[in-house]
Amino acid sequence: MSKPTYNLDGTGGSCAFCGKSVEPHLNYCDWDCHIGHAKKLGGRVHTPNGLPINCIMHDSTMLEIADGDHPDYKWPVKAQYIGPVTADDREFAEHACGLSASATDDEVRESMGETHALLYSDEIKSVTIYECCYATWDTKTGLLEAGSLWARGRWKLVSIEPPARPAGSVDRS
Ligand SMILES: [Zn+2]
Repeated sequence: MSKPTYNLDGTGGSCAFCGKSVEPHLNYCDWDCHIGHAKKLGGRVHTPNGLPINCIMHDSTMLEIADGDHPDYKWPVKAQYIGPVTADDREFAEHACGLSASATDDEVRESMGETHALLYSDEIKSVTIYECCYATWDTKTGLLEAGSLWARGRWKLVSIEPPARPAGSVDRS
């Protein structure tokens, strides 16, 4: 009788990269094995800022950030929620982000932060992409100008400076 298989690739309880046993619902021991498998499959590493791989595409392309394969991608930037905190926001923060019921509104806002891919920036406007949706921002104030996923007056780009390149990293763009 064959062992039951649960994993997407049919390996059933063993890591698809190193073969060590894992929980039946998992495909990999950890993120490193996930990356190792993507590399073994011939995936391209595209980390132009030398940042760690945080996203693996269906074709095994490895990126610093989702949307980091956009042809105009520059680097990751932080978008912060600055609006009022609703009961729904608080409930989501508690369930999805593990915040305690006594968290402050600022802590809830912090948990709602998003990492966008910066595509363009000059002294007047900045353009980002997040989950395949574009947003434009006032570069001086950082405030959102337009974007279908966000409400104006409630979102702000915290910083658009390029990230420090980790020591010893190589340009693998
Ligand atoms: Zn493994």
